[in-house]
Amino acid sequence: MQSFNPPVRTLMGPGPSDVHPRVLQAMARPTIGHLDPFFIEMMDQTKEALKYAFKTENELTMPVSAPGSAGMETCFANLVEPGDKVIVCINGVFGNRMKENITRFGGEAVVVEDKWGEAVTVEKVEQALKENGDAKIVAFVHAETSTGAQSDAKAICALAHQHSCLTIVDTVTSLAGSELRVDEWGIDAIYSGTQKCLSAPPGISPISFSEAAIHKLTNRKTPVTSWFLDLNLVMGYWGKGAKRAYHHTAPVNTLYGLHESLVMLMEEGLENTWDRHKQNHETLKANLEGMGIKFVVNEQDRLPQLNTVWIPDGVDDAAVRSTLLNEYNLEIGAGLGDLAGKVWRIGLMGYSARKENVLLATAALKEVLSA
Ligand SMILES: *Cc1c(COP(=O)(O)O)cnc(C)c1O
Repeated sequence: MQSFNPPVRTLMGPGPSDVHPRVLQAMARPTIGHLDPFFIEMMDQTKEALKYAFKTENELTMPVSAPGSAGMETCFANLVEPGDKVIVCINGVFGNRMKENITRFGGEAVVVEDKWGEAVTVEKVEQALKENGDAKIVAFVHAETSTGAQSDAKAICALAHQHSCLTIVDTVTSLAGSELRVDEWGIDAIYSGTQKCLSAPPGISPISFSEAAIHKLTNRKTPVTSWFLDLNLVMGYWGKGAKRAYHHTAPVNTLYGLHESLVMLMEEGLENTWDRHKQNHETLKANLEGMGIKFVVNEQDRLPQLNTVWIPDGVDDAAVRSTLLNEYNLEIGAGLGDLAGKVWRIGLMGYSARKENVLLATAALKEVLSA
């Protein structure tokens, strides 16, 4: 057996995306104890920086020590009690996973369905809220990575609040990639990931809970069924104050990476970061359309950081993707579910959202398609 040396790729799929060299360097720094005063200082800075990234003042803002899916489970495990009615919007893979969480934690899911590739229809959410006066939560995906569609989080949250519901929102792909305002939009529980638009490696899930969400959590009639994800316990380690107790061993070096990526986010400025994703999307879009390639999602609902396009007729999906990977070291994403074999998902996320990547993807696709 020998050391593992991965090839150097350009990652332009649905995640993970390119990790910034500064983040990789930060992760190579010496491991210290998860209760070391220096580490605790870094944890506090990370929490503050995540508030900045989420645009929230929520005290309970922290990174869960596991990937985006664990952030999702944290939200549902803590907020859904047996018998709770939860309206869940499904317009792709990740909405379906939310539904799965609701039923597994004993909730009753009321599904609002939209076609893959389309945004959640706000009027359908309103109808569901009117028909289900006893609903407690509305859950939806802000940025559907399986299709590249973006939903109107502000409008859905406003409606949910009018009907006294909390909101759980998946922003794994939107955080730091496109406009996201937790407090202004009224998001009560949110989860994200580090490997999409934060330029950090996978394995961490930033979350944030509003006062109203914490109120529901602390007034539960039944204990949270997950031990690891029970925020009442997790906050003994991640919470404020000098007295931090061991809950689990934090992924120390991965957190150095997240910390560095947040330092970089603050250096660039959140709005500038959103803008960079948009600019690169515009260039990629012009280039692809110039080649006759068409987008799946309506222009107004398109995510800049995830470009889903129809594979041109007669083109072998798998052959193109493997040529891109083997000959250009370029990874783009395949379609999922109903869209498998029909679309490509080209990510422009985090450090991957750069001009040279747009050029590479355009030139490589042009060569491979004309060959
Ligand atoms: C990637 C992704 C997830 C899951 O994140 P993991 O880190 O793979 O667990 C959840 N929701 C959306 C919208 C995603 O894009």
